[in-house]
Amino acid sequence: MSRRFDLHTHSTASDGTQTPAQLVADCATRGLWAMALTDHDTVDGVEEARQAGDRLGVIVLSGVELSAAFAGELHILGYGVDSSDEAFCVFLRRQREERELRMPRMIARLRDLGVNIAREDVDRETRGEAPGRPHLARALVRLGVCGSEQEAFDRFLAREKPAYVSRSLPSTREAISAIRAAGGRAVLAHPVCISLSQQELAALVAEFARCGLWGLEAFYPEHSDAFARAMLGICRRTGLVPTLGSDCHGPGRGVPPAAGWERFGSMIPQETYDTIEALATHRRSN
Ligand code: AMP
Ligand code: ZN
Ligand code: FE
Ligand code: FE
Repeated sequence: MSRRFDLHTHSTASDGTQTPAQLVADCATRGLWAMALTDHDTVDGVEEARQAGDRLGVIVLSGVELSAAFAGELHILGYGVDSSDEAFCVFLRRQREERELRMPRMIARLRDLGVNIAREDVDRETRGEAPGRPHLARALVRLGVCGSEQEAFDRFLAREKPAYVSRSLPSTREAISAIRAAGGRAVLAHPVCISLSQQELAALVAEFARCGLWGLEAFYPEHSDAFARAMLGICRRTGLVPTLGSDCHGPGRGVPPAAGWERFGSMIPQETYDTIEALATHRRSN
């Protein structure tokens, strides 16, 4: 039996284009056994996703994606956090406030570049959620400034591009600690996005493991087979659980749910399934 899963997805609770319920329905249609909703800096979509999962027979894990400062930034996924944990809620709120502070600065940069865009144009895309660069990219497409979201990143919004503004971020250690203190498990997302050699990456992951990192997203659509195998090797040597995530943000925006499964499904160890079961059971007993 194929137990297809995807532990990295985004909904309209952050910068995805499908509501949590639509996303879970998409996962159900594709025959997924389990998924995690991992919106940026919020768990607000999880309850809706769970209700849809219960209805449609898909295991839905609670998740979140945090950004941390590291040579630019890296991302930490958190699974099974207690959403009523006061300190964690404060931590998430602070991250979202930083997003709110950054957006007017990016809009000002664009205006300096001669792009006629207003905050309301972005608000139309965020619909009340904390703003991210994809919302701004969508606003630029809607205004006809760019032909696609990717073009908006390539011309203006990617790191090193003229409208990019950084925001204040926690350290990786702080991000991992915040997840653990709220009863969650921390996983390093898309290691391919960290510009380090495999040897340097192995040393970094070992250091994070000593700080309480629990897993590594070894299987990610942008990983080559060889890179994924190397990440699996790092997991074995450091005792981390390898996970698979697509980073799907909705139709028309990159990859669909469970992207990467065809290539990586056969490489996923039993341990990964066992931990998904354990996370799902933990939820049912709560
Ligand atoms: P933010 O959290 O506001 O910094 O935006 C991060 C999101 O923007 C990521 O989750 C991606 O969806 C998207 N993103 C970041 N860099 C790029 C890029 N170079 N090209 C396309 N999308 C990107
Ligand atoms: Zn995103
Ligand atoms: Fe990410
Ligand atoms: Fe993501």
